[in-house]
Parts: sequence; structure tokens; C-alpha cells
Amino acid sequence: NALFDRKLIETPLDALRRIWGYPDFRGKQADVVQHILAGNDALVLFPTGKGKSLCFQLPAVCVAGVTVVVSPLIALMRDQVEELKALGIEAECLSSQQSEDESRTIRSKLRAGKLKLIYVTPERVVLPGFADLFGNVPISLIAIDECHCVSSWGHNFRKDYLGLGKLKELYPGVPRIALTATADPHTRDDIIRQLRLDDAAVFVDSFDRPNITYHIAERDNARTQLLRFLQRHDGSSGIVYCLSRRKVEETATWLNDHGIKARPYHAGMDPGVKADNQDAFRMEEDLCLVATVAFGMGINKPNVRYVAHLDLPSSVEGYYQETGRAGRDGLPSEAFMIYGMQDIVQRQRMIDEGDATDEIKRIERAKLSALLGICETAGCRRKAILAHFGEAAPARCGNCDTCNNPVETWDGSEASIKALAAVYRTGERFGAAHVIDVLLGKVTERTTKFGHDQLAVFGVGKELSVHAWQSVFRQLLALGFIRVAHDEYGALKLEPSAHGVFKKEVAVILRRDTVDVVRKRERGKP
Ligand code: ADP
Ligand code: ZN
Repeated sequence: NALFDRKLIETPLDALRRIWGYPDFRGKQADVVQHILAGNDALVLFPTGKGKSLCFQLPAVCVAGVTVVVSPLIALMRDQVEELKALGIEAECLSSQQSEDESRTIRSKLRAGKLKLIYVTPERVVLPGFADLFGNVPISLIAIDECHCVSSWGHNFRKDYLGLGKLKELYPGVPRIALTATADPHTRDDIIRQLRLDDAAVFVDSFDRPNITYHIAERDNARTQLLRFLQRHDGSSGIVYCLSRRKVEETATWLNDHGIKARPYHAGMDPGVKADNQDAFRMEEDLCLVATVAFGMGINKPNVRYVAHLDLPSSVEGYYQETGRAGRDGLPSEAFMIYGMQDIVQRQRMIDEGDATDEIKRIERAKLSALLGICETAGCRRKAILAHFGEAAPARCGNCDTCNNPVETWDGSEASIKALAAVYRTGERFGAAHVIDVLLGKVTERTTKFGHDQLAVFGVGKELSVHAWQSVFRQLLALGFIRVAHDEYGALKLEPSAHGVFKKEVAVILRRDTVDVVRKRERGKP
């Protein structure tokens, strides 16, 4: 790239202060910027809110030429372009949604060297002739935003991102910077391989968000649990995530009926109403936004005080990213999630019935079980989450439900043997509900019809309640002794590791809380 003169127009720190008005760099921003300006490739793994965008926007304004930014969503591009323009930086995006006139104007600005940044989609940047758009203007840098989209391990796989590996040959000598807030080791390796970033320096900032309190509860009565949670946060704003559009609508209505100021947000809404609700959320300080995951990408409200999940998120990455929208201002915030056995079965079904390849389905299942591990851990949530991203937790978290109220554990080996035996004796063809009926010795149409009332395991588990057994089964799933079959019934199947439990080679240590609390409650009943 002989045209490219790397002489600085302005030093990064001067530009940071003059244009952005920030007194200083944050975290590893300075290192990244310096590395890029020296003409090197970089992979930047910063959690949400740590200021990734600056890592390419700042070099872009410091050198001659134009920076090409690859981004997966038009909406995301537009937001960034708006923000840059507001700072007085010349930036545009090229999208197929533009009119011929608009796109002609942008192209001529580009060729005249008037733009510092141009945002494009992954499919466009690798099209033959793309480089011609620039005329004699040198490309100073290529930034690949949300680069986890290239990995099928990432929670946002985009086929178009696979083509971006070609950028290395298409633009030799142009430094590339890939950025993401996702950093589990699998995804990281995938990104490096797919984008051919072998020579890139990897910059990782800690993924810990010390101001977020994690709280994951077993579903009892979801709405009441949510209401109690929201009442604690009355007068502040937050997000409640639900899986379906319908549940979003219903939950928002129900909350309003119960004195919580709430509005819905999902992709199927009337665009005007949707924009209204989003604006209200941005402006008001005490609004609960009930939303599908369609809401969030590019949301930059600093004082979101809580994020609640009424349904399991898609993965640990998804959970981390969604909860990460809380507390960007650094003030105490809370991440709250309610979940139960049904969520696992339902999620499993969604994976199975989806039309992904077997390879992707296998990955999805692995991700579900990683998430389940965090939900069912008897240890620190933060530690479990950070471990997922390959990071060690601080010695003392003190800011999650299990740290604040340490859960007692108990030796659940006997109970586990009974549970696993019941799964085995009923032929590994039934879901948890039926297997629990058998353990409790309940005479139902199904136990009779299948002759399960004749089994030796029938009624051997009367010492525990239904809820307690559900907890045992969830934990057995999380520990990998059983799995949910890929069938319509969500049948439980034994994993090979279950043999160790039968043979008493492994002790099964379980959380006591979800088991005991329920036992007490049931004992209290007349
Ligand atoms: P990310 O993309 O990593 O989630 P952003 O790039 O959106 O983060 O930045 C998050 C917030 O931090 C933005 O409001 C941004 O303006 C702000 N920010 C970034 N760098 C700095 C800095 N050096 N000093 C102060 N604020 C910063
Ligand atoms: Zn903790």
C-alpha cells in the first residue's frame, strides 16, 4: 500500500481530547490505538461498554485515508455514523436501502477523500470492484466490528462474515482490527482462524463487571417473583427480557396492571410505537422496558439499573451481553433471572427442531449446557461466568446470590442413584415430570398404562418433594449425568458418566437450597 502515508495528522491523545472531549484513554484503548497506528493487526476483546469503537475511530481520524468499517447491522451502522457526525467526523454508510441519489453522493464524497470512515456490510466489502469506489484515496484501516459473527460458536453467526478472511489478500498491507464483546476461548480461536488474523496482537480487557449483582432463581411463580424484584427497583429503569413477542406484550400489560410503569418492545411491533417506546426508555428514568433480544444492540443508556430474564438466554455469551447492558455508568446494578426445568426442555426442543446443521446443533447443545452449569452452580456466579471467558474471578466477589447467601450443599448421591434408576427403568423414554411421578409413587393414567407402578423404583423417592426432584434433575443435567433427548417428549437419557454414580465411584454434591426451601414450605402446609 504505497499510497498510504502513515504520518499522523494529529496525535491520538490530542484527537481524543479535541474531538471526543475525553480527558484520557480508558483501559487498553491507548495500547490498541498505538499498535494499529504502527501498522499492525489487532483482535480486540473488550466487554460491552469499555469503548471498543474508539479503537478504530480514533486511528481513522489520525491518519490520511479512509477507514472501512464492516458491521453486521444497518441500524448499528446508522447509529455510529450519527454519533460520528455529531462529533464533526465525516462518516457515512453504504447500504442497499439507500436511494440511487444518496449512494451517488456518498460515493463521490468517498472518491474526493472527504470521508474518514465508511461503514459497509460484510457482503459488500468483498465484492469485486469494491476497491474502485475509493479512486485514489488510500484505505488506512479495516475494522471488523462484532467479529464474533464469523464464528459458529459465537451466538450470532453470520455466513457473510466467513468471506472476510479474504480481506487479508484483497488489501495486503492494510492493518485490520477485529472487535467483539465475546471472548470465550473457542470463539476467539475461531475468529483468528476464519479472519486469518494469525499475526494480530490480542487485546483482552477484563470481562468482570463488578458493579453488577448476579441473581438466578428457580421459577416458582414467575410473575410474582418478577414483581417483587421490580418493586425493589421502583423508580429506576431497566429491561425485562422475554423469549416471545406475545410474552413481551402480556408481561408489559400485566406489570402496568400491577403498578409498574412498563412498555413493550419487539421486532413485530408497529414501527412508530416501537420507536416511541425506545425513545421513552432513553429519556425516562423510571421505565421498565419489556423486550425480546431484538432490543439492545447499540443501546447506550448508561443508567440501566437492572436486566431481568424471564426466559433462558441463548447462551452464556448472550446472558453476559444482555446483562451487560445494566450499569454502564459503573453504579450498582442487578442482573436477575428466573428459570426452571421447562426452559431447558423448551430450549432443547428449539435446537432440535431448528433447521441448523448437525454440527451447529451440537454446538448449540454444548452452549445450553454451559449456561445450565452457571444456573445450577453452588459456587460464585461471577466465577462461573468469568471462567467461561477464560478469566479467573477476583478472590472475593461478594456480589452474587451464592456469595451473599452461600448455598449449602449436600451429598445427593443416593437421590441421584434413585433418579437415574428411574430414568433407566422407564426406558429413557420420558420427561422429568413422569419420572418424578414414578419416584413419588403417584398413580396416574400414564404410570398405570405403562406398568410403571409395577417397577421397583415406583415410590422410592417419597422423601423429596416434586420441586426437590426437579432441582435434582436439573442439577444432574447440569452435571452431565443425563441429557434431554432430541425428541418431542424431552425424554431424559443417561449419559455414560451416569455409570460412575450407579457404581458409587463419584459422589454427587448438590445445591441444598432449592431442595430444602421447598421441603420446608411443603411441610408448613396443613
Ligand atoms: P463498546 O462498543 O465497547 O460497548 P462503546 O464504544 O459504545 O463501547 O463505548 C461505551 C461508552 O464509553 C460510550 O459512551 C463511549 O463514548 C464511552 N467512552 C469510550 N472511550 C472513552 C474514554 N476514553 N473516556 C470516556 N468515555 C469513553
Ligand atoms: Zn460471587
